[in-house]
Amino acid sequence: MAISMQSMSGATGLEFEMGAARVQVDDKKIINCRADLNQLVPFKYQWAWKKYLDACANHWMPNEINMAADVALWRDLAGLTEDERTVIMRNLGFFSTADSLVANNLVLAVYRHITNPECRQYLLRQAFEEALHTHAYQYVIESLGMDEAAVFNMYREVPSVARKAAWSLKYTQSLGDPTFKTGTPENDQRLLRDLIAFYVIFEGIFFYVGFTQVLSMGRRNKMTGTAEQFQYILRDESMHLNFGIDVINQIKIENPHLWTEEFKREAIQMIHEGVELEYAYAVDTMPRGILGLNAEMFKDYLQFIANRRCAQIGLEQQYPGASNPFPWMSEIMDLKKEKNFFETRVIEYQTGGALSWDE
Ligand code: FE
Repeated sequence: MAISMQSMSGATGLEFEMGAARVQVDDKKIINCRADLNQLVPFKYQWAWKKYLDACANHWMPNEINMAADVALWRDLAGLTEDERTVIMRNLGFFSTADSLVANNLVLAVYRHITNPECRQYLLRQAFEEALHTHAYQYVIESLGMDEAAVFNMYREVPSVARKAAWSLKYTQSLGDPTFKTGTPENDQRLLRDLIAFYVIFEGIFFYVGFTQVLSMGRRNKMTGTAEQFQYILRDESMHLNFGIDVINQIKIENPHLWTEEFKREAIQMIHEGVELEYAYAVDTMPRGILGLNAEMFKDYLQFIANRRCAQIGLEQQYPGASNPFPWMSEIMDLKKEKNFFETRVIEYQTGGALSWDE
């Protein structure tokens, strides 16, 4: 007789039945799975396992990157303009808390509701990468001797930073409620909405003005250590984004009833809001334009990215004809090609042969 160790409700992976039948591939589901969640094999979601292996092959540590040139430049009062300092400060302000918002959403909301071991394996790796990113920002802030409390509180005190954080937080709040359960169309759509908010907009749009600004400084040989940190983070982030898009599309395949015309309109509306908030952030971080960059170029870039995001999750592109003013950004995402880019210390961080994703 089967002995139920706990009720099967919730499918958290903490319950199982002695003597229950072995898990078959067809038992696995992206959400609302009733099968045992502790059996990684047989694989069903090969793409998630592959991304887990790729992420492990790309391991890096923030404290391995030499920050000496940045410290000297930051202390030199004539080394950077006030506008350049604003760009660095605001971006550290946004990113120092952004990756912990993502980590909290993953661990406290998403992980519970994505019900297969392949995706959870990647989510565990992603959660660690979010910790590394928070570590990287802390390491830069400490190296440069910045006012740590001021930087870590910008997401509550600087409006253009706070608005992005507040926009995202509202999507995770209900999912973090321990009594929240998927399994009804309404609640499954709440999960899908949270995934679109965090993967497609937060990691897929809200990171890109800051990444471009800091990497652009690195290309001009300024703040090269900080830029190198951001380069590794961007490489990780483009994989987080691609994983999230695969999860969203898999949920759509397995649950087509969730992808209603009304829901699609809502997702498009979220993407429009994301572009507007990120454009406001570009204006706020760069009111006068620096480094051959200006806020108007970011309008084009954000619309170009938003079109990509729409296409990636099967929505109609919203900004016809938008072009990419920063083609070098997509090259930077493939660090293997670009490892000499900043002419800093060259490390072959990729330990495997598996750097390919479709960004
Ligand atoms: Fe991330």
